Order: sequence, then C-alpha cells, then structure tokens
Amino acid sequence: MPGGVNSPVRAFKSVGGEPVFIERGEGPYIYDVDGNRYIDYVCSWGPLILGHAHPDVIKAVRNSAMRGTSFGAPCPVELELGELIKSAFPSIELLRMVNSGTEAVMSAVRLARAFTGRKLIVKFQGCYHGHSDFLLGKSGSGIMEGDIPGSPGVPAEAAGLTVTLPYNSVDKFIDFMAEKGEDAAAVIVEPVAGNMGVIPPARGFLEALRTECYLKRTLLIFDEVITGFRLTPGGAQQLYDIRPDLTCLGKIIGGGLPVGCFGGRRDIMEMLAPQGPVYQAGTLSGNPVAMSAGVATIKSISRLHGFYKDLSDKTKSLTDGLLELFRQYEYNVTINRAGSMFTVFFAGGPVTDYDSAAVSDKELYSSFFHEMLEAGVYFGPSRFEAAFVSGAHSGGEIEFTVQAAGIALENMRRKEEAE
Ligand SMILES: *Cc1c(COP(=O)(O)O)cnc(C)c1O
Repeated sequence: MPGGVNSPVRAFKSVGGEPVFIERGEGPYIYDVDGNRYIDYVCSWGPLILGHAHPDVIKAVRNSAMRGTSFGAPCPVELELGELIKSAFPSIELLRMVNSGTEAVMSAVRLARAFTGRKLIVKFQGCYHGHSDFLLGKSGSGIMEGDIPGSPGVPAEAAGLTVTLPYNSVDKFIDFMAEKGEDAAAVIVEPVAGNMGVIPPARGFLEALRTECYLKRTLLIFDEVITGFRLTPGGAQQLYDIRPDLTCLGKIIGGGLPVGCFGGRRDIMEMLAPQGPVYQAGTLSGNPVAMSAGVATIKSISRLHGFYKDLSDKTKSLTDGLLELFRQYEYNVTINRAGSMFTVFFAGGPVTDYDSAAVSDKELYSSFFHEMLEAGVYFGPSRFEAAFVSGAHSGGEIEFTVQAAGIALENMRRKEEAE
C-alpha cells in the first residue's frame, strides 16, 4: 500500500513517527497490535459517536449480516434509516443513500448543476468535501498538510469550475455573488468547519450564504458529513436554524460502516434517476448491514436523555482542563470547540479561517501529539483535525486525558529546556 495506508493522514506523515496499528476498539479505547491501550479521540474521524463496538450497534450488524449482507434490491432497513434522517432534518424531503461522504457530495453537485443549468461551484478554503476532482482545491484534511494546492491528476479544466473563497468572510462572499452569483450552480460549505481543525461559523456567515443563494437562485449545499447527528440530531442546520437546499451526510449515519447520503428539496431530488434524468447509482448503496448500524446508532442516541448536552458538557470540561494546563505551562494555544468536537491549535490568536489555522505551530503540535500518545491518549495525527468525544468517554477518561496532558506538557518543557 502506498505509504502503508489506505487513507493518507493515517500514515503520521505530518506528526512524524510510525503509525500505530489498531487491533480492536472497545468503548472509548483502542488497542494496538502491541497491546497498548489508548483513549481514542479520533473515533474513526467522527462516525463513532457511541464509541467502539457499542453493544446495540454490534447486535444490529450481526443480526443483519445473518440475513444476508447485500441484495442490490430495495430493503426495509433503508426506509427505516431514511425516516430517521428525515425526521431529524426537516430540509430533507427526499434522499439517496450512497457509500461515502465523497460520493454524497459528488452526486449532490452533479444534481445542483443539472437543476440550475449552471457550471460554477463555490467552496470555502479549508473545507473538505471528499476527494473528487472539482472539490479538492484548497481543501482541508490531509490535503492541508502537503504543499499541493489540489492534486496532480486533477485537470485545470475540472478545478477551473470551482471558485474558492475564504471561510467566514461575508464581504468577499457578497462581492463574489454580486459579480458571478448567476453563474453559480451551488455554494457548498461545512457549516461548522471540521477539516482545518474545528472552526465555527462567524456570526452572520451562514445567514449571508442563505440570503445570497436565495437571491441568485444558487443552491446552498450544507456538507454535514461530520456535523449531522454530531452537534444536534439535525446537525448545524438545526443549531443555526438555516435551511439549505441540499444536505450531504455520512460518518455517524453509518454507525462505523461505509455510508453516505444526500438529500433535500423535493423538486431538486426528483431530478435524480430513475425519477429524473440525472444519473447516479451504486452496487452496494443502501447496504442492509450498513443501514442497520446507522439505525442502531441513531436509535441508541435518541434513547439516551440529554445525550448531546452531556456530550458537550464533557467536552467542555476536557477543553477547560487542557486550557488551564496550557496556560500554566505558558503555551500559546487556542482551542476551538463546537459541542463534542474540538481542536487544539498551537496559535496565539483566534482561529477563524484557513490562514489563521495554517499558522498554528506544526512542531509543537507534533510534540504534543507524540507525548499524549506515549501517555495513552490518541489524538488526530495532524494539527488540522477535529478531536471527537463519544458517549463512551466518561468523566474518568476525561480526567485521565487532562492528567496525561499535564505529563505531556511537563515533558515538552523539559525537552525544550534541555536543547
Ligand atoms: C469525511 C468528510 C467527507 C468525505 O467523506 P468520506 O466518507 O471520507 O468520503 C466529506 N465532507 C466532510 C465534511 C467530511 O468530513
């Protein structure tokens, strides 16, 4: 495997060192092949909101697999997951299941182009929308670490139909829309950015997107692949009370199995084949085992009273504890948090966009990451990732993490002084 991995950030290239190979996960913990245990804040990059191997999810997967793993024909559990998503997202009138977030976004964009008869797509710097050709440029996640603006292999013609604007800049967006809005098929955004580290929307930013898109008849696509069922059941659109035209989902709705989904306004979605002319298909789409894992995850969450508030409170106590330590050791750190997702930026000032995230200190993050790993805590192996707290993380794990951070910072200081 190139780089030894099946997805780039896993290779630890940005923080250096050797990646840990994971043998199993249980609740908030992962265990590597050498028998080391870590508290896991990657949680498979977001899907595992109930932690690893949650009994309800495992039971559902097992029961489903016993009845056959794939049919390539409609099956009841697709409807069940579809209904759960629809009731959480009032903006979604019709939806389609796919196998990844990348696929969801690709298909939503095709649909938006077909519906509007326009070509341009507007995205925001540092937002990641999967690895399709026309959305990779100035993207977040693994692409932020290389020097590659997009990627070799993406023709300029493909990338040329995408316009990238700075995240959180209302003025630049309004200026663009005044000039070119009528050529834009869609504006796509992570309503709370999670792939350049966590960056919440500035006051008025999402509102401006909604208003301008409405005026120019441009479709507004919320990429809620991370935020759907993460911030609230209904994602960032529920939290900020904004209704996008189309929404992309993934991660949590698959309960740890490969799932994506896009949906939205009926008049747009009805253009999709076989109802309409816009082609989109998938051999394993609506896979019953994956659907079952998603249903079990969403139902388990809804049975837990106050789940999202607890998750948010726990995460706040973790970030408060960490901030206090960083102050004590005099590290300039900004922690951005949205509910149960957060990022520690080794940066003095506020982090509100790609540029302010990119100036965060790579060396310090790498040292912190490795010291934490040594102490038994697994954060994302890049300074541009969100950390995720799950329902399985208890007060005990939070406390352990803060203690581990104390040891980590002590070690970092000692090593710096020794140099
Ligand atoms: C993870 C992610 C994707 C891509 O999903 P995959 O399942 O990895 O293809 C798209 N958009 C956002 C916001 C994501 O976080």
